[in-house]
Amino acid sequence: MAVLLGPSRRHKEILPVTVLTDTLPEAAVRGHHVPTGLYIRGQWSNRDDTFTVINPSTGEVIARMANGNVADSLCALDAAVAAQESWRTVAPRARADLFHRAHTLLTSRADAFADVMVVESGKPRAEALGEFVLAAGFFLWYAEQIAHLHGTFGAGSPGGYRIVTTHQPVGPCLLITPWNFPLLMSARKAGAALAAGCTVVVKSAKETPLTAALFIQTLHEAGFPPGVVNLIHTTDSAGVSAAILADPRIRKISFTGSTGVGSSLLQKAAQHITNASMELGGDGPFIVLADADVDLAVREAVACKFRNAGQACVAANRIILHEAIAEEFTTKFVEQTRQLRVGDGFSGADVGPIISDRQRQRVSRLVTSFADSGAEVLIGGRTIDGPGFFYEPTVLRFHSNDNALCREELFAPVAALYRVASAGEALSFANDTHYGLAAYLFTKDLSRAFTIAERLEFGMVAVNRGIMADPAAAFGGVKSSGLGREGGHDGIYEFLEPRYLAITVDEQAIDL
Ligand code: NAP
Repeated sequence: MAVLLGPSRRHKEILPVTVLTDTLPEAAVRGHHVPTGLYIRGQWSNRDDTFTVINPSTGEVIARMANGNVADSLCALDAAVAAQESWRTVAPRARADLFHRAHTLLTSRADAFADVMVVESGKPRAEALGEFVLAAGFFLWYAEQIAHLHGTFGAGSPGGYRIVTTHQPVGPCLLITPWNFPLLMSARKAGAALAAGCTVVVKSAKETPLTAALFIQTLHEAGFPPGVVNLIHTTDSAGVSAAILADPRIRKISFTGSTGVGSSLLQKAAQHITNASMELGGDGPFIVLADADVDLAVREAVACKFRNAGQACVAANRIILHEAIAEEFTTKFVEQTRQLRVGDGFSGADVGPIISDRQRQRVSRLVTSFADSGAEVLIGGRTIDGPGFFYEPTVLRFHSNDNALCREELFAPVAALYRVASAGEALSFANDTHYGLAAYLFTKDLSRAFTIAERLEFGMVAVNRGIMADPAAAFGGVKSSGLGREGGHDGIYEFLEPRYLAITVDEQAIDL
């Protein structure tokens, strides 16, 4: 518990600092000590070159992190490669025990994780705690799966041999995570890879490296062996990932982030036919049919839209309302949006800031283009003055569905309402996008729910609910929203490859 709870002196004792600099080896965030170095081969080390982490609620610098370069990333890869063989052969029960230890340690640090996430990502404290609970739940889920990774057995088609299929870890993995759910994304990816017997190099997002550091330090204290887990922070994500993917020893990339970056990483992975899982952008339709429970739909839409200030890949991007309930829904939705409190995550606010000033400017430009193209601003639509990168929760009403801007991922506290005349029109508008991550459907008619859900071209469909993340469920998208799944039974198999053994059997032998 040296880092989280212990004094700096003790933390330095366990820090095998390889390059001493005048920057502190740790940051103190609301009394929690977090390492600021790179973590390679079981050791934290600092760098002369650093970058700053900003609190988006205040604009203040909260930490200076070691800025890893290409050489560092290749050292991390060396460490992961060196540890791969021994990690692969750790018995399932021993690996599961490590996971249970990590889960217990994680659980004892809920406050530290929640505080750090609020400070570096700006999300409200209650949401940060919710993310923590979900992330810890993923670790527990993987712990429970480790002893249940079975293959298959069968007879060869012509007889004379047996078909035995086992699952092997793909090998060292590069895991690239985004800033919007910093703990959940790290735990979901690293948990699955490690459970499968792969070693990992985690690349944090430059906005939220402290959460990643706290997570990795927890795995270190749980006893994950040196080299099994490695962590790189960098301002050169493109250079670092290109260097790692140019090395044929990396056997898998798992990426969560924008579709553009995912596509460029897939091209790099193609060099050595490196296995890839991609969790990318979304354009989630949120359909409310004529027979829906409108109050329920409004409540869930507010949560689905404004959680994390709208910066979620599964956020409701197009709220598609049947004309029979459109007025009632709109009035109630605007009213509930008006009641949302915006502010610092520790103030009891419902909506935090946007992650950076640059992103806030993007949102501002987007809302202006919507308004210029005929959308009505029903509430909000302005930047909030003062420290931090706050933007008013905004509701826009569109009078046409054929504007190209309708298909843009908003990734902001901006709700876009559309009106349709039938369930069929709702379905075709919902599918008219190159994305296919999450969709939402509100109706009281179970048969219609099945019919429409089965025709929605999305990896996930929630019926009569606006939140659906669950460690036991397979999370992921189709089309430009990604490849592969995280969580559920499928999550670990993303990091395993089947191996087919053909075992000759002399079926006529009687002289045994
Ligand atoms: P992003 O710019 O694609 O960044 C995501 C990660 O990729 C960060 O770690 C970033 O590092 C890194 N990165 C950026 N450019 C890179 C490059 N050229 N090569 C290698 N790595 C690079 O996305 P974001 O703005 O952080 O996140 C928003 C997007 O992620 C949205 O589209 C959202 O829908 C998507 N997302 C999807 C899911 C899902 O599960 N499907 C979940 C969350 C978010 P640095 O920032 O440090 O440079």
